Amino acid sequence: MITCSNCETAQFLQITQSRVYFEDGELINEISETYECTLCGASGQYVYDEDRDKETVNGDVELTTERPKFA
Ligand SMILES: [Zn+2]
Repeated sequence: MITCSNCETAQFLQITQSRVYFEDGELINEISETYECTLCGASGQYVYDEDRDKETVNGDVELTTERPKFA
């Protein structure tokens, strides 16, 4: 899941922009999402590359496999 690296929670994250890239008009091979934390104002980007099954994040967000601390 995506969490704010300042607040260490996903609770206040909002997707401000979401983009899906297509190949040959149908296959989704990359997903890009921009997140903003409404608590501290941090922002970051999440990109999922389907071809390589790889997730990357930029900015003030973190990618974690842990369960949310403040669920
Ligand atoms: Zn935050």
